[in-house]
Amino acid sequence: MAHVKLHIPGPVEVSEKTFQAFCSPMIGHRGQGFKDLYAAIQPKLQALLYTKQLVYLSTSSAWGVMEGAVRNLVTKKVLNCMCGAFSDKWFDVSKRCGKDAEALQVPWGSPIRAEAVDRKLATGQFDALTIIHNETSTGVMSPIHEIAALKKKYPDVMFIVDTVSSMTALKLEFDALGIDVMIAGTQKAFALPPGLAVFVCSPAALARAAALKDRGYYFDFLEFQKNAEQSMTPSTPSIGHVFALQSKLEDIFAEGLEARFARHQRLAEMTRAWAAGNGFTLFPEPGYESVTLTCVNNGAKPGGRTVDVPKLQKLVKDQGFLIDGGYGKIKGTTFRISNMGDETEATMKQLYAALDSAMKQL
Ligand SMILES: *Cc1c(COP(=O)(O)O)cnc(C)c1O
Repeated sequence: MAHVKLHIPGPVEVSEKTFQAFCSPMIGHRGQGFKDLYAAIQPKLQALLYTKQLVYLSTSSAWGVMEGAVRNLVTKKVLNCMCGAFSDKWFDVSKRCGKDAEALQVPWGSPIRAEAVDRKLATGQFDALTIIHNETSTGVMSPIHEIAALKKKYPDVMFIVDTVSSMTALKLEFDALGIDVMIAGTQKAFALPPGLAVFVCSPAALARAAALKDRGYYFDFLEFQKNAEQSMTPSTPSIGHVFALQSKLEDIFAEGLEARFARHQRLAEMTRAWAAGNGFTLFPEPGYESVTLTCVNNGAKPGGRTVDVPKLQKLVKDQGFLIDGGYGKIKGTTFRISNMGDETEATMKQLYAALDSAMKQL
């Protein structure tokens, strides 16, 4: 079967080099080989996340750690900031964990604004909040620096931040932001196969977890810390992923962080220009567009062109590329194009050529 290249916002295309590393001969996870492997990548993970904290590896998709964060850190009440499918779901997950939760909902396409968060936290009801930095369903990036600045005013509130589809694509300085948890899944901007999550906790988050019962075991943050101190994971990790991550970190630092960040910005701008050039408007509120994917408006909001999205997808797929047809309640009234991972100007131009050819046949 001919390979269809992924331009959906996760999983994204995985390089041959990454796959080769993924298929390294197996080693034992309690042996020195694994400890050496984890110890070798730890400083690179810390440099990537601009942190002195130990970076943890969880063999799960991102949701495992997102749910774990709620279980480890919420004692009183959690504020779930909601602006799209993933962030809306986190509210549901908080309730399923038996936590007292409140929604801060904004319309899809809008970002979460610091003022709205401030007003909620000022009530004094909350000891944790969840927020998604890059809401993949709507292509909206919320102003995380302005929101994180509130942490100074509310030191007892745990700031739990999902950077699932933005980590590695732009500068997110964990320690300087002052937030408490930052989480990513590796099938998004890391461009690894799905099945591994990467996350980091502040000392305050570990202290909160220590005071809280019923953290469970698999996602107990204290277990992650205790084991990471020995360059290990609490349970048997997906070792292939750790080899793949090592390979990817080599790529990331060979390119250079600043160059990588600039590349994602540039490629996202190219996709926005492609959309505008074809008469489309974008779904996100102007000024809050993601740098890793573009969510094109196709009738979800007034203005701009509309096309038959399933037909567009098929015409593009026939040329070897998969684009996304919109997520949840905006399926079909938006479509999404990812530029995460290893994409370059040259590879994105191949996609735009396929899209252009498809547009002529619609
Ligand atoms: C993909 C995604 C998730 C869910 O990730 P899983 O790997 O399916 O658990 C959560 N949040 C955001 C922003 C995402 O893009």
